[in-house]
Amino acid sequence: MDVSKLPNHHPVPWGTTFEPIALPEMFARTMRGTPDAPLLHFLGRTYSYAELFRDAQAFAHALKARGIAEGDRMGLFLPNVPSYVVAYYGAMMAGAVVVNFSPLYTVEELAQQVADSGTRLLVTVDVPELYTTAEKVLCSSALETLVVSSLAQMLPTLKGIALRLFGRAKVAKVEYGEGVVRWGDLLEEGGRNRGGLPVVDPHSLALLQYTGGTTGTPKGAMLTHANLSINAQQTAGLNPFGDPPGEVFMGALPFFHVFANTALLNHAVVTGASIAMVPRFETKQVLKTIEKLGATGFPGVPTMYQALLDHPDLAKIDLSSLKVCISGGAPLPGPLREKFEAATGVRLVEGYGLTESSGVVSTNPYEGMRKPGTIGQVVMGTEVLLLDKEDPSVIAPDGEPGELAIHGPQIMQGYWNRPEAAKDVFVEHLGKTWLRTGDVATLDEDGFLEIVDRIKDMIAVGGFKVFPSQVEDVLLEHDAVKEALVIGRPDGYRGEVPVAYVTLESGADATGSQLKEWLNARVGKHERAAEVVIREELPKTMIGKLDRKALRAEVLD
Ligand code: AMP
Repeated sequence: MDVSKLPNHHPVPWGTTFEPIALPEMFARTMRGTPDAPLLHFLGRTYSYAELFRDAQAFAHALKARGIAEGDRMGLFLPNVPSYVVAYYGAMMAGAVVVNFSPLYTVEELAQQVADSGTRLLVTVDVPELYTTAEKVLCSSALETLVVSSLAQMLPTLKGIALRLFGRAKVAKVEYGEGVVRWGDLLEEGGRNRGGLPVVDPHSLALLQYTGGTTGTPKGAMLTHANLSINAQQTAGLNPFGDPPGEVFMGALPFFHVFANTALLNHAVVTGASIAMVPRFETKQVLKTIEKLGATGFPGVPTMYQALLDHPDLAKIDLSSLKVCISGGAPLPGPLREKFEAATGVRLVEGYGLTESSGVVSTNPYEGMRKPGTIGQVVMGTEVLLLDKEDPSVIAPDGEPGELAIHGPQIMQGYWNRPEAAKDVFVEHLGKTWLRTGDVATLDEDGFLEIVDRIKDMIAVGGFKVFPSQVEDVLLEHDAVKEALVIGRPDGYRGEVPVAYVTLESGADATGSQLKEWLNARVGKHERAAEVVIREELPKTMIGKLDRKALRAEVLD
């Protein structure tokens, strides 16, 4: 199938041939063309391309002066704040590899991924939850430096630190300890430096993005500059409304997520658009921001559109600037799409992607023919193959569902320090290397894909992936728990929620609600179980392993 003829493909800023380009160079090109155009709008302030580029360069110089070498890992442990953008591109300008960490990580989760990635320097913000977590990791790991960006400095008009951000009345004073550097000092230090920065090879590593995969242990997907810049160009090629620099993307997705990295940040920068960034998804603020800044596009996860739809003020807000909303990360329920479109008059299209594909694989067309319930057609330059569900070395017969496999310039290089894990996800067919997605799909004659099943065990809570084994491991630390299995239960609001099934040690007398309370106090927000069910026994496979699939079939089917 010649994908360039598909109806959701439009000219991209640099033509229809994708250019593997380093992200700093991509940023520089747009900045040189439209230096004064806005790149970010954040809590009443606008940041131009030139301003953020200058800060990113200063940051890069400071990193270099502090001995961060090309290929070193630099972590971002940040909510949605302008310094995310500066640190992201700044690290890459210094030739470093960015590691994105969820700001909801616990100390253990952050420490594990800092150690796994060999992160040398971590950027966070002086919000107590984040700062104290990062500081504990600094004290207990090989991490060398913590850079702390001050919200008060970013928002000079606010007295103290923004209360709206995290619902806190007062933010405790942050003590800066050893190994902690203030963001402002670092930018000042770097801003004085006039030395050169490295020329970044487009095929070098740009980002380590942690993801679950089949084994449940988070692994760092290795994405190069070319992977990311091409996926941004592919995403731009979906947009028939592309009219830079007038486009304004609603930036409500958390920036640490690969969907936001591609569909918001790099997509905006490749086209010269701006992003209306909000610190976190707060329904009223998002609606007001769309109205005030005239947002034209809004990439989000299904739960975001559900929340907007449920908001009592929806009808009073002028959303006429919006041309399209793009849902991804999890299945978009049909009734939600219909109700959202009826209430807003805005087309809500479903797309699909995964961390290992730099974020974006396919989308329904923004205008013209589409097929609700499908994940649309692949982005330009991408090929798909359906593999036998049991045996990926065999191509599924024509017309049969099969495991979706992808070949394209946006596909990762492998998993950081885990060559054996890459062997499980890459497969050779027709003289090419294909990424196995773990999702079972069908493909119709118009090139529309539909996800019909998921081989992977991950639970999709909102747009976030929860690894059942991590929640099970915590449960097993409880003295009364003998065995544990966690599965996702469909949830009208969050897509899926984790539910735990356990057996107890003989003589133990804990209740389900006690275990739930105990568990939920020890795991991150998305991992909290909706219920802990105590069972006499749990299903097992023939060789005696706990059988998640059988449990799922028993309780959900
Ligand atoms: P992640 O790597 O965390 O972004 O997760 C990627 C996975 O999310 C995919 O492999 C799918 O299982 C799931 N996913 C993403 N978008 C969709 C969608 N539109 N419909 C169904 N599943 C989706």
